Amino acid sequence: MSMTQEEQQQSKLTVKELMIPAEKVAHVQGNNPLEHALLVLVKSGYFAVPVLDSSYRLVGSISKTTILDQILGIDGYETDKLSDMTVQDVMDTEVVSIHHDATFIEGLKVLIDAAYACVIDEAGLFDGILTRRAILKEVNKNYYHSRYAKKI
Ligand code: AMP
Repeated sequence: MSMTQEEQQQSKLTVKELMIPAEKVAHVQGNNPLEHALLVLVKSGYFAVPVLDSSYRLVGSISKTTILDQILGIDGYETDKLSDMTVQDVMDTEVVSIHHDATFIEGLKVLIDAAYACVIDEAGLFDGILTRRAILKEVNKNYYHSRYAKKI
């Protein structure tokens, strides 16, 4: 079966063209106290954000759920822990990541089981994130293009 022009263009798209660039990504650092991470998460509205070191290397990911779970004691939330503990004490170090030259379809596959993937460049530095929203927008665009193409 032959591909439409739009399908061909989409198959050539790279993760770099679809990602949110690093400078627009909310992130925290491993040595930040948990209260800073919670503030970033609450104010941004994101459920999780990447954790970077001072050289912009990806070291983990931190979510609201992880923080709330860590400070939950037997008698309720122990809010002192928010200033006593740091992000690196509790962050998730198994982060879903993808190279910035990966294809659109490789990006799509990675995001079946993750809400976002961290994008890494040749030097192993953090380059941005690929979100489900970016992939779904592309899928949606192609769906309407191919429906229209079949009618003419
Ligand atoms: P979305 O597909 O737009 O719902 O994004 C999925 C997830 O990616 C969000 O819940 C956040 O955890 C993360 N995310 C999206 N945009 C940003 C951003 N600009 N900075 C940090 N994290 C983000």
